[in-house]
Amino acid sequence: MIVAEQKPFQEIYESVREHQNLLILGCGTCVTVCMAGGEREVGILANQIRLAAKEENRKMEVLEHTITRQCDEEFFDSTVSSSIREADAVLSLGCGVGVQHIVELFDEVPIHPGLNTQFFGANLQQGLWGERCAGCGECVLDTYEGICPVARCSKSMMNGPCGGSSNGMCEVDPENTPCAWQLIIDRMTKLNKLDKLMENQPPKNWSRDRHGGPRRTQREDMTL
Ligand code: SF4
Ligand code: SF4
Repeated sequence: MIVAEQKPFQEIYESVREHQNLLILGCGTCVTVCMAGGEREVGILANQIRLAAKEENRKMEVLEHTITRQCDEEFFDSTVSSSIREADAVLSLGCGVGVQHIVELFDEVPIHPGLNTQFFGANLQQGLWGERCAGCGECVLDTYEGICPVARCSKSMMNGPCGGSSNGMCEVDPENTPCAWQLIIDRMTKLNKLDKLMENQPPKNWSRDRHGGPRRTQREDMTL
């Protein structure tokens, strides 16, 4: 899922404090699961903003709404579409994709982001998420037996480890980040496939990644 965290309250409040009629729009998918932008967070943030406005003697009406997915037009029904058009501005608690999708659908309304979108990750334990995929566009997990060197090695090394791997940890963050290449070697050892690492992997084709410019996917069989 896409992992995000809420921006600091003061940053959010500064971006919306001039509006008199604000709609806070949550998203019911990834950012609900990572507890950054679901219905619950919309409610808490709405109360914080109301209180802050009251302290400043500002007249501000704050409406709350959460839809299933901000990145999919089908979930913008007539109720939420009217609320968006009637608002002075929308504070989106969706990821960066959701924010931009609302901009595309309602280009006459100012849209403010309430989250910092971080990565594609997995829930590792209560309250902890870790990056697992960088959306490189050409998955090489098979070569590395299911451990991603693109997302999990700090240098995205296709042939590793580098000289900074120590006690199984990455030199970039030795307290918290396991060396991806240690994980790859451990995994290959467990599967009795260490020989696989004798093959030198060629440079990755980064044109399929973000570095090749904005991407799009079209499924001919799904296109109307
Ligand atoms: S190789 Fe690319 S697509 Fe596969 S998990 Fe890593 S970043 Fe994601
Ligand atoms: S220590 Fe490991 S994870 Fe860190 S940059 Fe080097 S090879 Fe990559």
